[in-house]
Amino acid sequence: MKTTLIIGAGGVGRVVAHKCSQLPETFGNITLASRTRSKCDAIAEEIDYPIQTAEVDADDVSAVVALMAKVQPDILINVALPYQDLSLMEACLQAKVHYLDTANYEPKDDPRFSYEYQWPYHQRFADAGLSALLGSGFDPGVTNVFCAYAQKHFFDEIHTVDIIDANAGDHGLPFATNFNPEINIREITAKGRFWQEGQWRETEPLEVSQSFEFPHPEVGSRDIYLLYHEEMESLCKHLKGVKRLRFWMTFSQNYINHLKVLENVGMTSIEPIDVGGEKIAPLEFLKMVLPDPASLGPLTKGKTCIGCVIDGIKDGQRLQKYIYNICDHEEAYRETNSQAISYTTGVPAMIGAKMVLDGHWKKPGVYNMEQHDPDPFMAALAQYGLPWEVVDGAPFLQQLLKHNP
Ligand code: NDP
Repeated sequence: MKTTLIIGAGGVGRVVAHKCSQLPETFGNITLASRTRSKCDAIAEEIDYPIQTAEVDADDVSAVVALMAKVQPDILINVALPYQDLSLMEACLQAKVHYLDTANYEPKDDPRFSYEYQWPYHQRFADAGLSALLGSGFDPGVTNVFCAYAQKHFFDEIHTVDIIDANAGDHGLPFATNFNPEINIREITAKGRFWQEGQWRETEPLEVSQSFEFPHPEVGSRDIYLLYHEEMESLCKHLKGVKRLRFWMTFSQNYINHLKVLENVGMTSIEPIDVGGEKIAPLEFLKMVLPDPASLGPLTKGKTCIGCVIDGIKDGQRLQKYIYNICDHEEAYRETNSQAISYTTGVPAMIGAKMVLDGHWKKPGVYNMEQHDPDPFMAALAQYGLPWEVVDGAPFLQQLLKHNP
């Protein structure tokens, strides 16, 4: 029987624990470990399947190795924070355990997430006969697999990809982030960046935006903003011949207004300041006063729509496809006690782990999602809660060409 170790008992960890426990034949014995054991226990209690829990500091390699010596996992699913990626990869190498995460490494004191820290582990994982799967969430994750699927089934050449992430959910609160506030705000307040003709082009934070009519009536027309996002770093290497990659995310005017005020008063800074003798980074303090994303589950209504508008060539003809998923916040909550942002991340994390354990994606080394065969993953998405659609992308690309940064 297989054994699975999940690290991180936040919104995503809750979904991963729920989904893995629905497939005992794949995940077998499950242990959920995190910094605060009571959070693991609370999740274990709501699941009708035996889940062991443990307390561990994921920054401490020897503590994680000791936990793995006890648990003897086949795979470690890292759904803690990006800061822990390297210590957990190191621990997996020492304990000889397969590794998976959903976000690339970012140094705590330098808001510059990149695969450049994790790709150099490739040879060590390959030599140890271990698989490391990077970015197995939705974006990165499913969006990379959508590109690989389009490359395999629809196109001879892919020229452009626009990844568009819409959260049309409403939680009724004045301001909240839908995943870890610190990670979320670091991402959004950074400069925008897109890939064009072999190089990165930079924009000011949230400088480029436009409206976009989504394919689902409940998502409708929304303002989308150009951001830098990590899947572009691997896709520009692995999608041969791609000329342009952009990433867009929806934000309401209310969200942008709150963010601007917080930025203007210095609350999004990661530079520690002296508060009565204590060194505190304003953003870490802000995280403590903002709503816990996990608490948004019962409040959030509406849908997410995340997908890729792809333009390319097939048999000498121009062709466009739009591949996307629609996820409903309330349905996600009914199934896993979590809103759709955690759900759309946790389900692909479970599927990525299943791909490794079942052998479809068991390949020694460090890999991004688009480097594997997309077909078994796409079939599993439809089966385990994230069905996808493929439609003619021409009208959607047309909207995106109105604005060309
Ligand atoms: P949360 O903040 O809700 O949860 C993070 C969990 O990790 C918490 O339980 C926290 O413990 C735990 N943790 C933090 N540091 C440590 C540590 N040193 N040792 C042990 N446990 C630790 O985050 P989310 O669940 O929203 O996000 C989880 C991951 O998923 C993040 O890396 C995020 O970037 C990624 N993500 C990826 C997406 C994708 O589509 N690819 C989308 C959304 C998120 P405690 O509760 O004690 O603080």
